[in-house]
Amino acid sequence: MTNELHREVARRRTFAIISHPDAGKTTLTEKLLLYGGAIHLAGSVKAKRARRHATSDWMELEKERGISVTSSVLQFVYRDHAVNLLDTPGHQDFSEDTYRTLAAADSAVMLIDAAKGVEPQTKKLFKVCRMRGIPIFTFVNKLDRYGREPLDLMDELEQVLGIRSYPMNWPIGMGPDFRGVYDRQKRVVHVFSAEGSHGESEVAERSVSIDSDEIKTVLTEAELEKLHGDIELLDIGGDEFTREKCDSGQLSPMFFGSAMTNFGVRPFLDVFLDLAPAPTSRPTTKGPREPTDPKFAGFVFKIQANMDPAHRDRIAFMRVVSGRYVKGMSAFHSRLGKEVRLAKPSQFMAAERTAIEDAWPGDVIGLFDPGQYRIGDTLAEGTEVEFEGVPRFSPEHFAVVRSKDPLRRKQMEKGLEQLSEEGTVQIFQQLHMGMKDPIVGVVGALQFEVLQYRLEHEYGAKIALDRLPFSHARWVVGPNFDPKSFDWEGNRQTVQDRDGLPLVLFRDDWALQHAEDKHPELKFLSEAPML
Ligand code: GDP
Repeated sequence: MTNELHREVARRRTFAIISHPDAGKTTLTEKLLLYGGAIHLAGSVKAKRARRHATSDWMELEKERGISVTSSVLQFVYRDHAVNLLDTPGHQDFSEDTYRTLAAADSAVMLIDAAKGVEPQTKKLFKVCRMRGIPIFTFVNKLDRYGREPLDLMDELEQVLGIRSYPMNWPIGMGPDFRGVYDRQKRVVHVFSAEGSHGESEVAERSVSIDSDEIKTVLTEAELEKLHGDIELLDIGGDEFTREKCDSGQLSPMFFGSAMTNFGVRPFLDVFLDLAPAPTSRPTTKGPREPTDPKFAGFVFKIQANMDPAHRDRIAFMRVVSGRYVKGMSAFHSRLGKEVRLAKPSQFMAAERTAIEDAWPGDVIGLFDPGQYRIGDTLAEGTEVEFEGVPRFSPEHFAVVRSKDPLRRKQMEKGLEQLSEEGTVQIFQQLHMGMKDPIVGVVGALQFEVLQYRLEHEYGAKIALDRLPFSHARWVVGPNFDPKSFDWEGNRQTVQDRDGLPLVLFRDDWALQHAEDKHPELKFLSEAPML
């Protein structure tokens, strides 16, 4: 088993793509699957909308909006690698979900639109990856259109994100003149040909050494001259590539291509999979846990209810950190303090959900969840241990939830509870006598719409949301804290979380600051204190 474990760990790559909406993440994902042999015909992006249910998107709401609301996990095999691609939602209001997904990734691919460069959402997500210190690869997309100069983009990465980049390959031409990419390590030009393909199958590709005579038959004199000039510039003025700088996220290996036409997808995938790290160790309350530790351990980073409306199921997504998961096994659930059976595991092979027999570090498995999991929960074979670092976020928008139909109040409450366990919303109880309606808090305001939609469609409960003027929630701890003394002052209100811990909601920075100044003996925490 040890040999097998080492081998399985070494061949795994678990990563996420981060980007601003419209940079081409859906398209690139489809193309990676195409090259991974997971789908035979990567649908053109036009067809994508119609086929959305077939890939990572499933909710009607997102079909309507054309945004991807939830993350899912896609696994495919490429060469000898078992690749897990964690799909993250693109819309900024769902960034919380994205952040949690990044906690389960070992590296990230930052996808950039060549014409737009670094965009706001790229920046935010980049920061999270930086904090985790994971390697960040850059794919500059849409080279089939005129965009910014590659050197200009490298400069922007440094100015805006503070990261140096190392072009692993270099584009030859741009827009309709985009011919191929030059592999700096191998000194080979990959020339693409668009004939007979509209990006639906792998692109015809010819690899020619830049030092051969043949290259003159492939590129024009002007193209060759420009390429030699660019490379000289990079060799002299650019960074030196080292594995250490890449591994620690100091230097971003950069690639160029066009996901739509498949140009540059394979050259990227080949080098990326060589450089991207295999599953790494993770911090726990008892020191780092190595993936090659023979005892199984994993953590829940996402919970999703009603993925299949016909079945009313709830899935907890768990990232395997160490050892081997075997079907039917039990593990110790630290938060509950008991052994639980990990039931009905499934994995998400490209389009379908398939039952699995085993899983290895780096893999993500979907566990059937009868309501026993929460985000951040650790499950470990035989030991009580907890993983650290699945981020929780403090809500910034609040509303009172009222049931529009008093007879469906129970359904509403059940739905609210389940969605809060999923991490879609946080629920608070009002402390004032007679105020029974719960308050929900969300990180992005669009989550209110998701809440309303899902309560109605999945639980049959129509609700009204009355927005509250608060923007901060703080758990208050300290000697002699009297929740009542904070209540009802117009710019703040005391509530209770689902564990019965008191919090104060504040209208704005000023109201929070005022309370902090007035009560130096109290702590105002943006994360729930440990019970
Ligand atoms: P996402 O929002 O990041 O998932 O982006 P999509 O994959 O949905 O792509 C957004 C738009 O960009 C679509 O209209 C795509 O057709 C287009 N697109 C994606 N990749 C490319 C590319 O390589 N070249 C060009 N010209 N368009 C692209």
